[in-house]
This record gives sequence, structure tokens and C-alpha cells, in this order.
Amino acid sequence: MIIILLGPPGAGKGTQAKTLSQRLKIVHISTGDILREAIKTNTSLGQEAAKYVERGELVPDNLVTRMARERLSCDDTKEGFILDGFPRNLAQAESLDEFFNSNGLLDYSVIYLETSENTIIKRLTGRRICKSCQAVYHLINAPSNKQGVCDACGGELYQRPDDSEATIKNRLQVYERLTAPVVAYYSHKGKLLHISADNEADKVIAGILKFLKVNDSCEISL
Ligand code: ADP
Ligand code: AMP
Repeated sequence: MIIILLGPPGAGKGTQAKTLSQRLKIVHISTGDILREAIKTNTSLGQEAAKYVERGELVPDNLVTRMARERLSCDDTKEGFILDGFPRNLAQAESLDEFFNSNGLLDYSVIYLETSENTIIKRLTGRRICKSCQAVYHLINAPSNKQGVCDACGGELYQRPDDSEATIKNRLQVYERLTAPVVAYYSHKGKLLHISADNEADKVIAGILKFLKVNDSCEISL
């Protein structure tokens, strides 16, 4: 099963992808996570990407597309995968189409997590991430058991530098200008589920699973 999660920063793509990955036993691929890891370990990709990520700009397509293709070619994607944060503009969407076509991957679902700006700001400013395993928490909505400590691995929780209010504003503008057209792109292909992601995480996942089951059990053209 191949799932592409679309939506603005803070919509809950990573949160939903983690649950879907556990339920469906397919890998979660987040281009943001891969880039943060590259920055942390100071690889040449990380050095190149850091200045864009800090400012909330998109990392250039040639870097991200190569990175995504390499990741999608790993053995653990054979049973399927969930893409979170890619594609993020039309050029990336077209490149993904090419990859899918040349690998015979014709069946995929695109889920758009529709979110209001008010929700996005509250989610992003309260988001905390584990430095070691990148698990995602929220100060109010999804707190860790012990403040500042990851439940999963005991790592230290931190606030992403690009979750500051100034950078959030830029990321939302970038989203509207470059990523929103990707939603329209898949909608025109008849491949899109809209789901209201302002709801609690449990309700959102229930909606997604319902959709995927329908999609699984009958051959309907979406
Ligand atoms: P994205 O990957 O789309 O940027 P995340 O999954 O990291 O978004 O979620 C952003 C923040 O909002 C996190 O702190 C997460 O715990 C919280 N969150 C995600 N989904 C929900 C939800 N449905 N209700 C409340 N909080 C949520
Ligand atoms: P995310 O974790 O998805 O919020 O992404 C964090 C940051 O990584 C973004 O603001 C971009 O700077 C960069 N990034 C992640 N995915 C992509 C992508 N597909 N194309 C370009 N830049 C990306």
C-alpha cells in the first residue's frame, strides 16, 4: 500500500503516519526527518540543506528528489510506504509520478489533512521532538509522561528551531505558494481524500482507515 500524506506544517502528517505505519506495517518516510538527521550528523547534504530548513524555505528540488528516490529504493519499501512531506511542489510531484511509473507503482492513495491556521499555530508552537528518535509530542495535546523526556527512548525533547513564530509564518506562505498546488494536482487526478485534521488525532485516523478499507475492498476509481 502506498499513501501520500499532504497538508500544511502542523496538520499532523507525522502523527498520522506513525500510527498508520504501525497499523499497516509499512514504513514511514518523512523527508523532514531525513533532512534533520543529515543536518545533525553534518553530512554534505545536511550542510547544504541547513540554511533552507532554518529559514523555512524548501530545500532545492535536485537535492530532495535524489534523496527521496534513494530512500524509496530501499528494500524496506517493498510492502509499501507512507510519504510525509514529499512531494512539496509540482516539480516534485511530477518527479514522483515518473518514479512510480518506471517502477510499476500504479496504485496509491493521497490523503489531504485539511487544517485551519489557528490550529496550525497552536500545534507548531507546542510541538516538541525527541533529539534521539524524533518522536513527536505536544505540550498540551500529547505531553510526554516526564516533562522534557521522551517516553520511547529517554532522549531529550526540544523545540524545532523552525517552529518559532517568525519561521512558521514563512513556512505557511511557502506552503500556500508552492505546496497547495500539489493538492489540486492530485485532486485533478481523482486521487484525493479530504479529511478535517482539526479533529482529535483518533478521529482523524479513524477517517483515514475507513477510507483505506473502502479503497481496499472495492475497485472504485477515486
Ligand atoms: P506535521 O508532520 O504535519 O508537521 P505533526 O504530526 O508533527 O505535524 O503534528 C504537529 C503537532 O500537533 C505535534 O505536536 C502533534 O503532537 C500535534 N498533533 C498532531 N495531530 C494532532 C491532532 N489531531 N490533535 C491535536 N494535536 C495534534
Ligand atoms: P517538515 O519536517 O516536513 O516540516 O520539514 C521541515 C523542513 O525540511 C521544511 O521546512 C523544508 O525546509 C525541508 N523539507 C522537508 N521536505 C521537503 C521537500 N519535500 N522539499 C523541500 N524541502 C523539504
